[in-house]
Amino acid sequence: MLFAIVGDNKKAKPSKGMRAVCPACHKPVIAKCGSILIHHWSHLSGSDCSGKEPMTQWHYSWQEFFASEHREVVICNGIIRQRADLCLPQPNGSKLIVEFQCSSISVEEISKREQFYTQFGHLLWVFDARDFCIKLELVSPNSNIYKFIWSPPRKSLWVINSALAFDIGNHILLIASGHQRNGRRKLCGGWGWLMRKKEFVYLLPQFTEQFTFDNSKPLWLPPKSRPLKTSRWRSKQSN
Ligand SMILES: [Zn+2]
Repeated sequence: MLFAIVGDNKKAKPSKGMRAVCPACHKPVIAKCGSILIHHWSHLSGSDCSGKEPMTQWHYSWQEFFASEHREVVICNGIIRQRADLCLPQPNGSKLIVEFQCSSISVEEISKREQFYTQFGHLLWVFDARDFCIKLELVSPNSNIYKFIWSPPRKSLWVINSALAFDIGNHILLIASGHQRNGRRKLCGGWGWLMRKKEFVYLLPQFTEQFTFDNSKPLWLPPKSRPLKTSRWRSKQSN
């Protein structure tokens, strides 16, 4: 993680020899200030803290876009303390919680985090999809709406029922609706909005103003179900 707590509850980046505690579990963490990885804080071995998950360069590069007060925010419901990658206040008073995910993550862990974070606001997953096999096809000129085919899909992500975006390099695909694989002939796919990374970054502080979604519809339609007539998502910016 990039920030730990020093002294009087102050968030601090690591520097050599500095002492701090983890904002989630309050146990001591060590400043790692080597020459290869971005300087970060690390738990002692044997820790079972939820903030222990190793972070990659990809992770850090995303966080750098946002103010430090919104990064690595500890969210607590009185029992569980979980460290969210980003927690952005929205104009309507709600919160957008963003989880950047590059390592593979279990279905159980996805469900656990969805259940937890949606008590506090909207949850958006951003997956490192640079290795995913995704084919895009523009739906109509002068729009940013694309159909996509994802084959082979990472099936564990079908359990996601909050907002989901794929980082496919310089662009982000925000998934509007998807269908799980339906037999051999119909591959996993769907449609979404494609935007440049910078646009996406600017969008996040007002995400709930730009997009609304209907919770009663699943993000990923199960096999053999007919496509929905109306999508789960609506964008206020275009069409
Ligand atoms: Zn911890």
